[in-house]
Amino acid sequence: MVEAAIVSTAGAVGLAAYAVRGRSSQLLAPSIWHGDRKRPSLALTFDDGPSESTPALLEVLAKHGVTATFFMCGRNVRRCSEIARDVVAAGHEIGNHTESHAPFYFKSAEFIYREAALAQESIFQITRVNPKLFRAPYGVRWVGLRQAQARLDLTGVMWTAIAHDWKWPGPRVARMLLKRAKNGAILCLHDGRAIQRTPDIRATIEAVEFAVPILKERGFTFETVSQLCGL
Ligand SMILES: [Zn+2]
Repeated sequence: MVEAAIVSTAGAVGLAAYAVRGRSSQLLAPSIWHGDRKRPSLALTFDDGPSESTPALLEVLAKHGVTATFFMCGRNVRRCSEIARDVVAAGHEIGNHTESHAPFYFKSAEFIYREAALAQESIFQITRVNPKLFRAPYGVRWVGLRQAQARLDLTGVMWTAIAHDWKWPGPRVARMLLKRAKNGAILCLHDGRAIQRTPDIRATIEAVEFAVPILKERGFTFETVSQLCGL
């Protein structure tokens, strides 16, 4: 009822935009967007993978002893199955980022459920991991997502800050990470570009390589989203 009223009231455009895309909005589907603010811990999250470019990122994370959370698309997991298994073997957490990365705007509840359920199946078949976390493509929550998350026992995850690493150069992404890193922050980056092959993620890798040692010096440790949020 509340959901229908929000999306159908022409005068409530601002509220509707917040409901759909606001990082802290709980109106269309419950989502966490930060962890424990008392501990100096951060969660790096990487969306849209795995991709042919992911191994270079895994190397950087391993070099710095950082454990992260990867929100994977089912189609990418099927295309890059070995890489998906390497992410798991390296000790990272896996989340669901839908099968095909289609935005949920104006989609039916059935479509939304199917996108989440198919990805859940793809990820399990290839990696034997049953994800507990879900991130909506483009951060777009829509009517029906609440029920889909509940049916699949998924916790929605947004972010404290999103790095525009798909369009910003590495140094700018790094500055943003350094500025927005606070206790309990969930930081959103990308190791893919939707379901593209061989995406250019050099800016992401450069930013992680630069920012992680500085953040460690500041006393931060890196955790998976489940650890950070005590799930
Ligand atoms: Zn995405």
